[in-house]
Amino acid sequence: MLVASLDGTRIDASLAKRGPEYRCPKCDGIVILKQGRIVIDHFAHKPPTDCTWAAGETRAHLEAKALVKAALVGRGLKAEAEFIVNTLPGDRRADVMAWSPKGLQIAFELQHTPIDLNQIEARASSYARIGVAQIWIPFLRDSVWNGGEPRHGDWFVKRYSPRPFERWVHGLNGKHGMWMYDPAKKEFWLGRMEGHQIYVEESSWYSDCGEENYGGGFHRWSKRYKELTLQGPHEADKLLIKVEARRAFSAKGYSWPAGRIAHLTPV
Ligand SMILES: [Zn+2]
Repeated sequence: MLVASLDGTRIDASLAKRGPEYRCPKCDGIVILKQGRIVIDHFAHKPPTDCTWAAGETRAHLEAKALVKAALVGRGLKAEAEFIVNTLPGDRRADVMAWSPKGLQIAFELQHTPIDLNQIEARASSYARIGVAQIWIPFLRDSVWNGGEPRHGDWFVKRYSPRPFERWVHGLNGKHGMWMYDPAKKEFWLGRMEGHQIYVEESSWYSDCGEENYGGGFHRWSKRYKELTLQGPHEADKLLIKVEARRAFSAKGYSWPAGRIAHLTPV
């Protein structure tokens, strides 16, 4: 975690000094300040612990949260990593919360690991209900670079198998496309997914009564694959936030709440 509590006050690992006894804001257990050259400054629970905030945090996720927060602060906005929103279901921390100059809250969800559709929909509804604008940013996987090629100045992946939550995020953003994060280079890409067509080979066979049948010889839409076009890369501090309202919508087993969404535009 990037933020611990010290005498009831939030303290960022990058600003913390060794010595005091820092505590986990969730379980109140002792956490150890880790500052070093390789891994970004953070706090880790003193073992043993069964705190849910102690599990499953990757270095890439810590770095992404710190990067986004620093970019927002660098632009003069108020921003906090791991900001607690009491009404959120599950883990109550928004990865990064920003405040517009007019005081509008914008939650950044940096999605390194897949999130279940029920969970993402519950979280999104919760943000929507309290008027917080949201932006979900899936992490790019290596398969995108291995399985793609440059095309018209973009990066093109002909057979991309999106995870269900990515389809949801893409649907939430509509025409704006889906911002994605490359954890290796710490850069952002604007992704757009379109249908991928598969050619069904022509074939013929005989039915039981000896009649010859023909099939195939046409294209169909793949259920599994999409064509993914990535525009970029963009650096975090060169992206501006825009907020807009969207209506509730549902399709193909997905549902999106009415509320504010945020999207990014290059400076
Ligand atoms: Zn804890």
